[in-house]
Amino acid sequence: MIDPPVQRRLQGQFYRLEGVRCRTCGFASVGTRPTCAQCRTTNLCEEQFSPHGELVQVTAVNRPISAYASQPLQYLALVKLDAGPTIMAAVADTEFCQPEPGMRGTLVTRRLFETSAEGLIFYGYKFRPDPSNIPSASNLDS
Ligand SMILES: [Zn+2]
Repeated sequence: MIDPPVQRRLQGQFYRLEGVRCRTCGFASVGTRPTCAQCRTTNLCEEQFSPHGELVQVTAVNRPISAYASQPLQYLALVKLDAGPTIMAAVADTEFCQPEPGMRGTLVTRRLFETSAEGLIFYGYKFRPDPSNIPSASNLDS
């Protein structure tokens, strides 16, 4: 379980998609790190990434961990952001459409889980498919 000080330190990463980009090779990743994961240089600059991207891979979670047990069937996805980084995120609004690779969408801040003992609520990003992926009522009739 994430304690409040750790959650506070991770707010930039989980609330604002802050990360680093390598000035040498251009590799980008969400979160702070001292060296580039690609070329190991320390020549990095901080960056706030755009939340738009494409779903690369998706899987259904049939047996969630206890913190997510009260939630309906969840999907976890690898999302390739337009700015470069690939991150893992839960898929939001799955009651409206089936998540599939190639689907465009946006990372949005959503409630992830709540600790029952302390009543702390943890937020983070989830991948929300673009409305164009959701069948309209007229499409469902045909
Ligand atoms: Zn690099």
